[in-house]
Amino acid sequence: MAAVKKKTATKKAAAMRSGSGADGATDDRRRRAAAIVDELRRTYPDADCELDHESALQLLIATILSAQSTDANINRVTPDLFRRYPDARAFAEADLAELEEAVRKTGFFRQKAKNVQAACRRLVEKHDGEVPADMDALIALPGVARKTANVILGTWFRQNDGIAVDTHVGRLAHRLDLTWSSKDTKDAVKIERDLMEIVPREDWTFFAHSVILHGRRVCIARKPKCAECTLVKLCPSAELD
Ligand code: SF4
Repeated sequence: MAAVKKKTATKKAAAMRSGSGADGATDDRRRRAAAIVDELRRTYPDADCELDHESALQLLIATILSAQSTDANINRVTPDLFRRYPDARAFAEADLAELEEAVRKTGFFRQKAKNVQAACRRLVEKHDGEVPADMDALIALPGVARKTANVILGTWFRQNDGIAVDTHVGRLAHRLDLTWSSKDTKDAVKIERDLMEIVPREDWTFFAHSVILHGRRVCIARKPKCAECTLVKLCPSAELD
């Protein structure tokens, strides 16, 4: 692959970036987003959620526990947890101190145990113990925001209601210049809104899963591996020496 000097990358960035959400710029980003999705499908054809689960409830609990932790760490904790608490009622009626102990290794375990129990109590009270396939009902659960709801809806129910924006999706949306209204990589609400405007709806769930993989393996936070990135020709932030 031909070397691209930093200066060239800066020029490329300026040419690709338009700095506004005006129609022409949005159309340009829409075309680039579609090309990025095509490339991601070639690179990660099997991209999916990496949290082990066998039901919507297990995915919900695993996703709540995954905050500030790694999927691998959560996957080490959940087999015992799900054996011990097989349904929403079991979590709802659990002794809180025992539940805290069971999720201790996920970090922030007191708050997470409290959220898991409160969410399951609401599932029992309002939804007969089942996880609803509905955005409003999901975000009404304690400890569940749009990111978690999008993971459940997209991964389990195969509904593209939104795009889960985690730390990787936020970072890559900025590097790939797919967001224009968000002020930084943590501005998840605006990043999701921008992405929903330009990424084809049928690709929303795949987009989030594959971008997360790409962020973990290639476009890492500290030093992106642009030299081995399959998105390099579509990325205004590419820097190769
Ligand atoms: S690794 Fe480099 S080229 Fe690839 S998406 Fe990240 S910044 Fe862009």
